Amino acid sequence: MPHLMNTYARLPVAFTHGEGVWLFDEAGNRYLDALSGIAVSTLGHNHPRLVRTIAAQAGRVLHTSNLYRIPLQEELSDRLAALSGMDEVFFCNSGCEANEAAIKLARFYGHKKGIEQPTIIVMENAFHGRTLATLSATGNRKTQAGFEPLVSGFVRVPYKNIDAIRAVGEHNHSVVAVMLEMVQGEGGINIADAAFQRELRQVCDERGWMMICDEVQCGMGRTGKWFGWQHAGAKPDVMTLAKGLGSGVPIGACVTTGLAAGLFGPGNHGSTFGGNPLACAAGLETLSTIEDNGLMANAVRVGEAIRTGIAEALSGVSGVVDIRGQGLMIGIELDRPCGALVSQALEAGLLINVTAERVIRLLPALVFTEQDAQTLVERLAPLVRRHLEQ
Ligand SMILES: *Cc1c(COP(=O)(O)O)cnc(C)c1O
Repeated sequence: MPHLMNTYARLPVAFTHGEGVWLFDEAGNRYLDALSGIAVSTLGHNHPRLVRTIAAQAGRVLHTSNLYRIPLQEELSDRLAALSGMDEVFFCNSGCEANEAAIKLARFYGHKKGIEQPTIIVMENAFHGRTLATLSATGNRKTQAGFEPLVSGFVRVPYKNIDAIRAVGEHNHSVVAVMLEMVQGEGGINIADAAFQRELRQVCDERGWMMICDEVQCGMGRTGKWFGWQHAGAKPDVMTLAKGLGSGVPIGACVTTGLAAGLFGPGNHGSTFGGNPLACAAGLETLSTIEDNGLMANAVRVGEAIRTGIAEALSGVSGVVDIRGQGLMIGIELDRPCGALVSQALEAGLLINVTAERVIRLLPALVFTEQDAQTLVERLAPLVRRHLEQ
């Protein structure tokens, strides 16, 4: 037995290498990767541009320190600012860290306004990470159980319920922010409609609350826009990024504007590794490749092909509750638990995930083609059909 902490129920497979949307195991079997390491491998595996960039950067310098200027970090911050219309970026290494920065910003903002116990409104079924603050913000008891006392200062409302958010504001005068995913990932691919997004921005403006978008999973082009909030144009004060930003190289970012810009000064926050030259080179190459290859338009087209293909292949099968998604963030909700499908798909040469117990989650790389979509449907649909007919 390896001396690993038992934090994952791992599938009995190890991959030796990848090529585009395919992964190969130790026995030489190949798998169509419709998960991308949970929305991480934006460009698929071994993308030649990314490989070249990382290798070249490794040959120059990997890490210096945030005690010095890092030109690649400056360049990546400029690119993210241009794509979002936002102002400032703090770089870190993961999603939970980006969210920690966002939570700290919201509290800092509250204290500046004289609010001693700043409160953040968070959503049911949200996922924000596994650190103490982010698991406290997460709307899933399984993530929290056994780690009490939770970090205080969060109140929870049902997702997409603007009245519930307004109601909290009526009686709780310590609220400083609302934090949410525009498309909930772990929560089961739940999509905030454009009307709700705009109303939320309006409520935040009326109340002087920061709007915080956790774009860790739905950001970076996956939904067909750079960021999920761009579907409605309701720009947040803070957005957090990670997963797909470095296409496999760990990097996170907390991006600010409006109420959140200019809050932190030297000493308020930091990270040893955050935004190091290697990670930023990977981030820059990921952005450029998405742009140069029209990968967001591709995400829309191929996502549509997957959803239609699955719907056609499963038409008339009872037990399919909903097939939904935005771009290449897709959920197929069944009327019963379906975790067993993950290992059945593995045996069929397909990597998928099941979340919220009953939702098959697909998060393919943005380089997925319509041909890949067809292969995915051919491999997945029969398994779903069998699962529902048994
Ligand atoms: C994965 C995820 C996180 C946590 O990211 P880590 O890099 O695992 O810390 C936070 N928020 C959302 C929406 C996520 O999907």
